[in-house]
Amino acid sequence: MSSAVDTLEQSEAYMENPKLQKYFKNVWLKEKERWVSMYRVGKMRVPVGTNNGVERQNRMLKECHIKFQVDKSLSGLVKVLHKDFLPAGYKKYIDENALASDSYRSYLNYIPPYLHNRPPKIVKHCMKRLNNASSIPTDDVTRVGCTVFKVRSSESLLEYEVYFGSESEFPKCSCPDFKKWFLPCKHMFAVFNKYDDVSWNSLPKWYSDSVYITLDNYVIKTSDYNSLKQSDIALSR
Ligand SMILES: [Zn+2]
Repeated sequence: MSSAVDTLEQSEAYMENPKLQKYFKNVWLKEKERWVSMYRVGKMRVPVGTNNGVERQNRMLKECHIKFQVDKSLSGLVKVLHKDFLPAGYKKYIDENALASDSYRSYLNYIPPYLHNRPPKIVKHCMKRLNNASSIPTDDVTRVGCTVFKVRSSESLLEYEVYFGSESEFPKCSCPDFKKWFLPCKHMFAVFNKYDDVSWNSLPKWYSDSVYITLDNYVIKTSDYNSLKQSDIALSR
């Protein structure tokens, strides 16, 4: 890390650009733990293998925001990005977070509290596995270590190994469902069902509180619930 910083600081482009130096020192470097992968070892990292998200944003920009724009210059495009596209995207992000939070809606009482204030897709994913776990006989779940368990497959003779992770290790189950989503699978919920000392709280906090499976409380606090309710009503019509 320090040699990479040295290389940058000695580069021609860096030395000739006081604005870059100021930004790098005062903004980027101060928060290096947020973007340097070295500081994120063992934390939830998502490899991005496609550019579908960027392509979709590009299509939205072209089809919904600049299609009828008269000013086709670069400054016209920047104006649309600054005044329209980015604020609209941010508002959508705030609204979707707020609409899913328990400050705005009440959760159905069969949804356990540990699934409250999570993105709807995560709640749906976990509820499906939680329901499927109820059909796994308790005899098919055995403990082989403090946080390691074996769960017999209901479809084959296989046994899956469930491990709830640690401060530095990712939780895992050897089943295909977990390998596909990296989210709690029915075998994990089957372990929760059988053992009183194991629960959702047995998952490491960095995993269960990860930004990928929680709502953004910061933006929820800033949202305007009155306008939200109107837009929600408008959408449901
Ligand atoms: Zn599993």
